[in-house]
Parts: sequence; structure tokens; C-alpha cells
Amino acid sequence: AKEAGRNAYRFFTNKMNVDVMDRIMVRNSLLRALERREFVLHYQPQLDIKSGHIVGVEALIRWENPDIGIVPPDRFIPVAESSGLIVEIGRRVLQEACRQLKAWQEEFGLADFVMAVNISALQFTRGDLYEAVSSAIRESGIDASNLELELTESILLKEADQALEVMSRLRKLGVKMSIDDFGTGYSSMAYLKRLSVDKLKIDRSFVKDIDVDSEDAAIAHAVISLGHILGLTIIAEGVENEAQLAFLHAHGCDQYQGYYYSRPLPAAECGRLLSKN
Ligand code: C2E
Ligand code: CA
Ligand code: CA
Ligand code: CA
Repeated sequence: AKEAGRNAYRFFTNKMNVDVMDRIMVRNSLLRALERREFVLHYQPQLDIKSGHIVGVEALIRWENPDIGIVPPDRFIPVAESSGLIVEIGRRVLQEACRQLKAWQEEFGLADFVMAVNISALQFTRGDLYEAVSSAIRESGIDASNLELELTESILLKEADQALEVMSRLRKLGVKMSIDDFGTGYSSMAYLKRLSVDKLKIDRSFVKDIDVDSEDAAIAHAVISLGHILGLTIIAEGVENEAQLAFLHAHGCDQYQGYYYSRPLPAAECGRLLSKN
């Protein structure tokens, strides 16, 4: 068990390939983390560009490991996915995000506020995503229209039939949908129309040099125009400075999130920002 712990430690702290044994140990440590409730959510504000008001938050998972400290999602989500544990982790994320939203609404109002939650492909294929989402909404008592699921283009392509069916049932409940990392996958216009999503999120790889790289600028501009033609809200992620924000504002982007305004924050700190909003 000690050896297993060391290997898991090695895995989560180093960038390296893992063999089958490592994967088993890592899976076990994720299971233990679930049991011990070591997964927590941080929240990053999403702002309306014109008004500067916070209009929502994205929930981002962290693992607070008593030995290692805070483990970022890129370190364990891939293993959670390959081991299937993401289904249970994702279920907890939905419950906690909805519960937190309800608590903030009771404190601050926030009637039109959006809680955005990241969804993995496996939650569509192996988990009952409809059941997980609808029970999180029901148990927390939030309105479905305040919940938004962030899906990637690859989910929608790979799991097209299953995803479309589940999405349309969730849309009937009133849940919102957004496409994450937009521009990095293969969405076509026809496809976007068929999906009936609400929002596109411009990937941060295009935002990074948006004010100096003419190709990135052109891509961002095209996404904004295309999205607006289809009646969608456009949000940019990874906004780190004033120049990027100014470009996005000038080109009609609706919302942004990024370190420029705030890093993802623990619930209590995020709540302090919401109280001043
Ligand atoms: P993502 O959904 O694309 O989330 C955005 C990532 O960018 C977050 O990293 C966020 O902290 C980071 N970020 C925000 N603003 C800035 C900025 O201005 N500059 C830079 N350089 N980065 C910024 P994080 O929290 O480490 O999450 C990484 C990925 O892990 C997420 O990418 C998402 O794919 C996944 N993830 C996070 N939480 C969950 C979850 O609850 N479920 C699932 N399935 N995946 C999750
Ligand atoms: Ca996301
Ligand atoms: Ca993203
Ligand atoms: Ca990403």
C-alpha cells in the first residue's frame, strides 16, 4: 500500500507515461479521494464585456490531497476518464455546483446567473447524464435555466447520436449548452445549427496573441461573426490582459473570463466578489 501511494504520488507530481500498474494505483487513489471527499470546486467568474458585471461562473475541479496538496485537473481527469471514475466524479461535480449556486442565489439573488459545468464524453456514453443533471437540479432546487453544460466539439463528433438525444432532452428541461474550446475541433456551421447550443467559448489558444497575431485575430473575429449570425452568445476564455479584452470588446464578443479579472477561486472568495457585483 505504501508502494502504491508512492507511485500515485509520482504520477500526480511528474509529467510521465504510466504503465498498467500505475494506472491501477492511480485509480485506487482517485476512489479513495471520492470516499474522503477530497474533490472541491473552484469558481472562475464570467463577465459581460459591455457592463463589466459578473454574469456567471465556471466550476473547475481540484483535488485537495492531504499528502500532495492541490492537484490540478489535467493531472487526474485523464485517468478518471480512462478508468470510468469520471462518471461518479462528474455526478458529484454537478451536485456540488448546483448546491453552491442555490446558496449564492439565496444570499445574493442572481436570478439570471449561469453556473457552467464541464462534462466529459464518458458521462454521455457510460453515465446517465440526463439522470445526473436532472437530479442535481431537483435536489438543489435551482432553476434548470441557471445551469450550463460545457461540452467539447470532440464529444459531439464522437458521440453524435447519443449526445444529440441526451442534449435535446436536457434542453427540454431548460438546461443551457455551450461548446468549450471552440475552434480547436471540427464543427461546421450546419452542425452548430443542428445542435442548438446557446454559447460558443473561444479557446484560449486563439485569445493568447489575439492583439498581435493577425491569424488568431481573424479566427476570433470569424467565430464571433458566425456565432452571432446563429444567435449564439460568444465568450472568450484565457483573457489575461487589457489589450486582449479591448480587442474582444471592439469585435463584439459578449463575455469573457480569465486571469485578467480573476483566477478560479474557492467558493468563499468567489462569494465575496459576487456580493460586490
Ligand atoms: P477548460 O474547461 O478549458 O478550463 C479552462 C482552464 O483555463 C482552467 O484550467 C482555468 O483555470 C484556466 N484558465 C482560466 N483563465 C485563464 C487565463 O487567463 N490564462 C490561462 N493560462 N489559463 C486560464 P484548470 O482549472 O486547470 O482546468 C483544466 C481542464 O480540466 C479544463 O479545461 C477542463 O477541460 C478540465 N476540467 C476542469 N474541471 C472539470 C470538471 O469538473 N469535469 C471535467 N470533466 N473536466 C474538468
Ligand atoms: Ca470549460
Ligand atoms: Ca476551454
Ligand atoms: Ca481545454
